[in-house]
Amino acid sequence: MSTHDFDLFVIGGGSGGVRASRIAAGYGAKVAVAEEHRLGGTCVIRGCVPKKLMMYASQFGMALEDSKGFGWGVPEASHEWQSLIRAKDIEVARLERVYEELLGKAGVEAIKGRATIVGAHEVRVNDVSFTASHILVATGATPDVPEIPGAELMVTSSDVLAMQHAPERVAIVGGGYIACEFAGIFKGLGSKVWMVHRGLKLLRGFDEQVREHIGSELAANDIQMRLANTIVGVERKHNAYLLFLGSGEILEVDQVMAATGRRPNSGSLGLERVGVHVDARGAIPVDSFSRTSCEHIYAVGDVTNRLNLTPVAIHEGQAFADTVFGGMPRRADHEGIPLAVFSQPQVAAVGLTEEQACAIHGRVRVYSSVFRPMRAALSGRNERVLVKLIAEATTERILGAHIVAPDAAEIIQGIAIALKAGATKADFDATLGVHPSVAEEFVTLRNARYSTSRQS
Ligand code: NDP
Repeated sequence: MSTHDFDLFVIGGGSGGVRASRIAAGYGAKVAVAEEHRLGGTCVIRGCVPKKLMMYASQFGMALEDSKGFGWGVPEASHEWQSLIRAKDIEVARLERVYEELLGKAGVEAIKGRATIVGAHEVRVNDVSFTASHILVATGATPDVPEIPGAELMVTSSDVLAMQHAPERVAIVGGGYIACEFAGIFKGLGSKVWMVHRGLKLLRGFDEQVREHIGSELAANDIQMRLANTIVGVERKHNAYLLFLGSGEILEVDQVMAATGRRPNSGSLGLERVGVHVDARGAIPVDSFSRTSCEHIYAVGDVTNRLNLTPVAIHEGQAFADTVFGGMPRRADHEGIPLAVFSQPQVAAVGLTEEQACAIHGRVRVYSSVFRPMRAALSGRNERVLVKLIAEATTERILGAHIVAPDAAEIIQGIAIALKAGATKADFDATLGVHPSVAEEFVTLRNARYSTSRQS
């Protein structure tokens, strides 16, 4: 019998923390979860959910433009940013209540406040101490802003989601997930958009051909690209901002958004007090069971900086609870996780990039196709879709699948199942297409090239 107040004390009520709490409670553990802001964490409150709602809003702008080619007479349309933010806030609050109810039903005690670890088995929230046999850190991450003069004038994705007015002109710094996604959101809602990125290509870590393709698609969608360009400072100019670029160019805009990565929330938690190691980036290193350097303290989600995605945090939380409270040891599995960037068009992938596949397997077969989607025939939009499969040279097992297209995220989910099941090119070939669709290209790819390396 435990002499502690709780069997598990979870710090952070986001996707990973809530899943771990509920599952552990389901196994009979006495569980508390402390959240300093709002239950739901990054994904629900200031990430995936509100971002996707804003992405939907922005797509109507493009649909209105495209509809003319299909015979629609569209009167001048306008968008009310404040109405969107209000509607989005209502939905987010609804989901927050769903999270509260889920915890309540599971018998988890939700505590509002910032938790600090004050002893090996002791956590303090609002000056009240609790003891627990296990502690789980699931505190997520926060947007990081580059250290340049005027950095405090930049907004982050969290600020944008609460902004009361749409900027007419916006510069987005960074070339990762958030930069690409918000470029599409702002563009679709009527802003003039610049992307300022220090690299030559967007989306580091993705397949090189995909990176080239999305860069040209965003540029074709009238996003002003400033690649291989650094930022040196931001200044206020009346109601606008000046963004100074390394190239000497000065952009005058109404908002400068930093989308330059996220920092794990590991500070001021008292981790050092109990011997939990934190790396130079502030991430908590863990083993495959999500155990930290301290035996009874675990960590899941973005604070561990493994693969910073909501389904991954949920999976890690579940595996932790199964292992520690369910008597079923499960390692977190980070293989074959499908990825999607909700840019416009979307980018989605599962498995290896061509470069990774060549590095591991030496010689691979690459099937790819770039084509104009049917919708563009009448809309007149200058857009191209990329569909790509990478197969092992001898067995033709599919090692990676990549797509840049509208609804790419919806398409890759099914492909990810095929890859998990070990599908070969022959399995893809034996599957009939859904016609006419973009997705059918995955089962009609015919011409292969051999690749041994594709330089970035
Ligand atoms: P990313 O790591 O995806 O991208 C950060 C970008 O900022 C990179 O292009 C990077 O360039 C650039 N950068 C970093 N530091 C600087 C600097 N000092 N000056 C200029 N540029 C800089 O981070 P995000 O913030 O976009 O997203 C964080 C994470 O959240 C993602 O990696 C992803 O794991 C997750 N996420 C997932 C989403 C999804 O699943 N759809 C959506 C949003 C976020 P370089 O490439 O040269 O390093």
